[in-house]
Amino acid sequence: MDIEDTLKTALIELGIQSTSNQLEALKRYLDIIFNYNKRINLTGTKKKEDILIRHILDSISLLKYKIELFDRHDTGSNDQKILDLGTGAGLPGIPLSIFLTNRIFYLLDSSLKKTDFLEMVKGELNLKNVRIIRGRAEELGARSDYRESFDIVLARAVANIRILNELSIPFCKINGKIVFYKSRKIDAELEEGRESILKLGGNIEDLLEVRVPFMNEKRIFLVINKIKETPGLYPRSFNKIKNNPL
Ligand code: SAH
Repeated sequence: MDIEDTLKTALIELGIQSTSNQLEALKRYLDIIFNYNKRINLTGTKKKEDILIRHILDSISLLKYKIELFDRHDTGSNDQKILDLGTGAGLPGIPLSIFLTNRIFYLLDSSLKKTDFLEMVKGELNLKNVRIIRGRAEELGARSDYRESFDIVLARAVANIRILNELSIPFCKINGKIVFYKSRKIDAELEEGRESILKLGGNIEDLLEVRVPFMNEKRIFLVINKIKETPGLYPRSFNKIKNNPL
């Protein structure tokens, strides 16, 4: 199957409606990653079809739960703010921003190489609803202009759950949601991370499962509800988070 057919089949399987502009944008994004990957290491996978399936389709598989996660949550205005923490080459933020055009996506990464790449992608694809932030999550999460100011916080392949909790939960508004892209190994991780979620003001709401089209693995989304303010002590310095996780 060629790239276009694979994409179309996958979108149907996920129940996602798409316009030809959206399909073009996804294909363009795939081409850009594929070409840049030879120069700067953006994704482990180098084959075009693998990048499409393992990264792009995996990222948009969250849209299977669009109603539960995004629409039900919608304030009706244009200002639902979504943070993609540790976005790397823009995953899952860029593919999602192509479909959720009336939300603002903030893509955060500490690496200048990644944020430069993302600025270029934003320009090439003319993504008006994307903002790029270079910085460290544990520093920005303590700042009043970022802390508790996002409706939804997403993270894919950034760190293990105890570290990720402290990096991400401070950014989320009360009543907002934090969604981690996780694999089947989630059960063991959850046991370890349960306590830190509570300490940081979160509450485990759901585990949502999806079959990523053309992949044999199941993808699991851990959904955390922010039920109360994160204590001012958190996030701590990265050394403390890493060496002495909550
Ligand atoms: N989400 C992407 C990238 C995963 S790699 C994907 O799914 O492919 C993890 C990324 O997180 C790297 O680009 C790294 O620079 C970034 N990162 C790790 N720790 C971070 C921190 N504390 N603050 C900001 N970015 C961080």
